[in-house]
Amino acid sequence: MNTVGHLINGQIVNDAARLQDVYNPSTGEVSKQVALASKTTVEQAIAAAEAAFPEWRNTPPIKRARIMFRFKELLEQNAERIAQMIGEEHGKIAHDALGELQRGIENVEYACGAPELLKGEHSKNVGPNIDSWSEFQPLGVVAGITPFNFPAMVPLWMFPMAIVCGNCFVLKPSERDPSSTLFIAQLLQEAGLPDGVMNVVNGDKEAVDTLLGDSRVQAISFVGSTPIAEYIYKTANANGKRCQALGGAKNHAIVMPDADMDNAVNQLLGAAFGSSGERCMALSVAVAVGDAAADALIEKMQAAMQSLKVGAYSDKSNDFGPVITKAHQQKVVGYIDSAEAQGATIVVDGRNPQVAGHENGFFVGGTLIDRVSPDMLSYKEEIFGPVLQVVRVDSMQAAMDLIDAHEYGNGTCIFTRDGEAARYFSDNIKVGMVGINVPLPVPVAYHSFGGWKRSLFGDLHAYGPDAVRFYTKRKTVTQRWPSAGVRESVSFSMPTMK
Ligand code: NAD
Repeated sequence: MNTVGHLINGQIVNDAARLQDVYNPSTGEVSKQVALASKTTVEQAIAAAEAAFPEWRNTPPIKRARIMFRFKELLEQNAERIAQMIGEEHGKIAHDALGELQRGIENVEYACGAPELLKGEHSKNVGPNIDSWSEFQPLGVVAGITPFNFPAMVPLWMFPMAIVCGNCFVLKPSERDPSSTLFIAQLLQEAGLPDGVMNVVNGDKEAVDTLLGDSRVQAISFVGSTPIAEYIYKTANANGKRCQALGGAKNHAIVMPDADMDNAVNQLLGAAFGSSGERCMALSVAVAVGDAAADALIEKMQAAMQSLKVGAYSDKSNDFGPVITKAHQQKVVGYIDSAEAQGATIVVDGRNPQVAGHENGFFVGGTLIDRVSPDMLSYKEEIFGPVLQVVRVDSMQAAMDLIDAHEYGNGTCIFTRDGEAARYFSDNIKVGMVGINVPLPVPVAYHSFGGWKRSLFGDLHAYGPDAVRFYTKRKTVTQRWPSAGVRESVSFSMPTMK
């Protein structure tokens, strides 16, 4: 059986002391194993990154960017292969996997602008013959820890920007679907990156804790569930590291009575069930304003869901594939059971989907639940499955209060034709990423991505302009060149321009 190893100092390394099974979720079978890095292996990766740093730091940004241009081409040339790897281990259908990759590539395109992004700030004559400038210097060794649900895109949120900013990187991807991530790192190597600048260690808590505890690691970017995000943030901070930790979500869509209901239903279908709902931006709660809107939504949604196709990643006609593991399948079903037990109405029940030829796959069918209330477990917690819950309220303010009261604040959306209502909503809602008739408002690569409340621990968002700030530290230089022979007088007061 194949084993997925690590990439350290430009070489594939297999630290086979501990191995974990990797599944094909569409069949339920073990397809390969992944090596779980020991502390020693992670320390080797950190050492390789540290050794590569002095030269990489001094490599002109334009040369770093040229490697990213070649990397982008290699990603595009290998897109089908990467999508296949994602499908095999994650279960994502090819059209969705290619979409994920494309959104990742857009971060590489942004990173190609490094010379422009790193130009810094300059002020001439801040005092008599005194100039001052701020430059943005790399941090050194930085690390990324990523979740299973976007094995290509989320790592690409991190390392292209970290690396063009002059840092060296150690990535700890999800151990559940490691192959596409490792292959992508190898493509970066092929694009001409010097050995040691980019390293990948597969692993679990042991690898993560080694990164958190090692004083050579200057900063950590994390994306995953909220309890782990909080742990990473607190531990990194306690150890003096810069940290951004993006967590879980419960994204609500407000459906106003004036919304184009057919359009809203189409948008909700994709945003709730695409990728089996295993997206941190999935719309998992529809808040219908007024019973008329709720009834129309339920009726149209129920009808539209009859044609939803769940099945194996390899059949491109499927709308979405399995969830990641057997345990997760059971967890999602458990949330549906709990909603039913707490009095909600199961309108479309996906608990026993029939997928011919794939009876052991980890499938959950599209599920629609009506009359969900905020006290229910299925409302409070992130389900991360193909389940759309409908909450009924009687005003837009009540819908906004519901969203604001939830512990998560990643994404949200409003479906309406009323510009004034939409403007009020986007201005006041306590959520980091807002859509107006846009169900998945995932910011493009030249903005930055991040939620509010317990969806993000830290100050700076992921990728885009915030990534330049996260992966560099500001140094401000003030300079004077006195004319030869000029002696300045002694002054003990604070220098001012008065
Ligand atoms: P997860 O938190 O289980 O794992 C994320 C990473 O943390 C993995 O690399 C994993 O190996 C590591 N990890 C897991 N348990 C750990 C522990 N006890 N100690 C140290 N490290 C540990 O998340 P997941 O199940 O892979 O991904 C799904 C979650 O990620 C969902 O909650 C989803 O909302 C979230 N997510 C958030 C965003 C965002 O941008 N906010 C994006 C994608 C996914």
